Amino acid sequence: MFGATILVAGCGNSGDSAHIATPATTPAVSDQTDDAPAPAPGTQPRVTILATGGTIAGKANDNSAVGYTAGEASAQDLIDAVPGLDKIATLHAEQIANIGSQDMNDEVWLKLADRINQLFTDNAADGVVITHGTDTIEETAFFLDHVVASDKPVVLVGSMRPSTALSADGPANLRSAVQVAAARDARNRGALVVLNDTIHTARDVTKTNTTSVQTFVSPNAGPEGFVDAAAVRFTKPAARQARAHFQVPGSAPMPRVDIVYSHAGMNADQVHDAIGHGAKGIVLAGVGDGNTSEEVVDALSDAAHHGVVVVRSSRVGSGTTVRNAEVNDDQLGTVSALDLNPAKARVLTQLLLVNNITDAGQVQQQFAAR
Ligand code: ASP
Repeated sequence: MFGATILVAGCGNSGDSAHIATPATTPAVSDQTDDAPAPAPGTQPRVTILATGGTIAGKANDNSAVGYTAGEASAQDLIDAVPGLDKIATLHAEQIANIGSQDMNDEVWLKLADRINQLFTDNAADGVVITHGTDTIEETAFFLDHVVASDKPVVLVGSMRPSTALSADGPANLRSAVQVAAARDARNRGALVVLNDTIHTARDVTKTNTTSVQTFVSPNAGPEGFVDAAAVRFTKPAARQARAHFQVPGSAPMPRVDIVYSHAGMNADQVHDAIGHGAKGIVLAGVGDGNTSEEVVDALSDAAHHGVVVVRSSRVGSGTTVRNAEVNDDQLGTVSALDLNPAKARVLTQLLLVNNITDAGQVQQQFAAR
């Protein structure tokens, strides 16, 4: 069932472009713009808006939020819906994609990462806003958080109601996002997600409600700050801990990593299926503290001992998946996802595989690096 070596074969990312960068103190792609002076007094910050679709760009035939299609309005339509946005920042807009974020993929991620790194390397923007569907916004934010080599703000924004709905939340959210991207205080916080007047970090944020405008929370850490009409107010200092920035993968797709969702009466079919389909990594969305049935534990341990990277996360939605608590990771050869939910644990596992980091101890270290 297992190949002798299960690393990044077939992912298209081997070679020079696929190695882990040194820690953020000496980033692999050095940020040439972080020492750039702040915009001169009287000049506005420059914010580039990269549009990818989502409900914020969604349209329906009437103004209910039923029966709409995500990813219809253009980047310029979104800007035009916010009177006075150009008084906050000098704007430049680009359409990167126009999709529902349920269809978000590695290709768009690489496009975003390349474009953002280019904008910052060229000192062509002081901040970037990405309009995005809310379903996978946290995954895109987390990916960019690991591959954008700049301290400048990268702010992801979406909406829960389409642009044609009554009380559409997109325009106000976009205004807030541009305020944050234009704020010098937003630097050195990694990628941020802004919705409903609230700022979250990529690592901490998660969607918790299917339809409410109050859906994003940071269950383990609380929000990073708030936005109101007058100001951006951070509640925490911008003291990001040093951790590695990864090189942007050379090409899509990244190595396959599957999420296996645990439940009562669980058998190991999902694990065998994942491996059979070529998964190089498996993330367990475990019950409780990253737990699962004996049969699945055995299958996961077997996989881990045959070179598959196996990470235990939890389906619970908050808390830390604790290493070696009820489940003995040392014995099983598994890694605990700590505070990362299964979706983000999957992204990090992919990035580690791209960078040839597959040893359980080293993988565990990277999960702990905030
Ligand atoms: N399905 C939509 C998306 O993620 C939902 C949204 O944007 O709120 O693109």
